[in-house]
Amino acid sequence: MPFATTILTLYPEMFPGPLGSSLAGRALNEGRWTCDPVQIRDFATDKHRSVDDTPAGGGAGMVLRADVVAAAIDAVADERPLLAMTPRGRPLTQARVRALAAGPGVVILCGRFEGFDERLFEAREIEEVSIGDYVLSGGEMGALVLLDACIRLLPGVMGAPSSGDEESFESGLLEYPHYTRPAEWEGRTIPEVLRSGDHARIAAWRKAKAETDTRLRRPDLWERHEDARVGSPSGARRMKDE
Ligand code: SAH
Repeated sequence: MPFATTILTLYPEMFPGPLGSSLAGRALNEGRWTCDPVQIRDFATDKHRSVDDTPAGGGAGMVLRADVVAAAIDAVADERPLLAMTPRGRPLTQARVRALAAGPGVVILCGRFEGFDERLFEAREIEEVSIGDYVLSGGEMGALVLLDACIRLLPGVMGAPSSGDEESFESGLLEYPHYTRPAEWEGRTIPEVLRSGDHARIAAWRKAKAETDTRLRRPDLWERHEDARVGSPSGARRMKDE
C-alpha cells in the first residue's frame, strides 16, 4: 500500500510542488506514495464560498471558519493521523516523522491568515504540528517539509537502505562531518584517519566528532542524549518516572 497523503488547503496547486522532483518525485511516479490535495473552499456553503471571517473580539486578519474546515476534514478523514500545521503545535521531530512514515499515510490541514477557529481543535481529534519557532504565511510549506521528511524514509525511496540510520537526530546526536575528493582543496586536506582504511578508527573518530559537534552546537540535544543514557543518574530517574 502506498503512503497516502491528503492535504487540505486553499492552495492545492502547491502540491506536490517541489515533492514532484528528485527522490520524492521518483517515488511518487513509482506509486510509493500518493498526493491528494483537497480545496477547502469546495466545502463552503454560502454563495461567496467564504472560508474565513473576522476575529471575534476584534483585531487584525481573518480566521478560518470551523464549520467549513470541519466539513472538509469529515469528507476525507479515515484511519490516518489528522495533523494541522500550527506554530503552537508540538515541534516536529525525527522520531515523530519515523512513526508517521511507518503508518498508512497522513491527512494534513494547512492554515492561512490568523489560523483556525479554536473550536475546531475541541471538536475533532487533531494533532497540531509546528516546524519551528518562526511564522510562515501558511501551512503548505510546513506540510511539504513534513511530507519530505516522511517520504525519504519509505521503503525503496533512498538508495542504500542504511543511509538513513546514521543521520543527524536518528541517534539523538548530530551527524559527523563529511569529506570527498579532491583530497586537497585550497590547501585543506581530508582528516588523515578517514584515509587510513582502518574502519574501527574511522568509526571512533566519527562518534567522537558527532558527540563534540552536538555538545557545542546543540547543547539542548546533548543534554537529552546524556539524560537518556542508561546508568546516568538522571537517565535512571527519567526511566523510573515513565
Ligand atoms: N496567528 C498565528 C499565525 C498564523 S500563520 C499565530 O500567531 O500563531 C498562518 C498559518 O501558517 C498557520 O495557520 C499555520 O497553518 C501556518 N504556520 C505558520 N507558522 C508555522 C509553523 N512554524 N509551523 C507550522 N505551521 C505554521
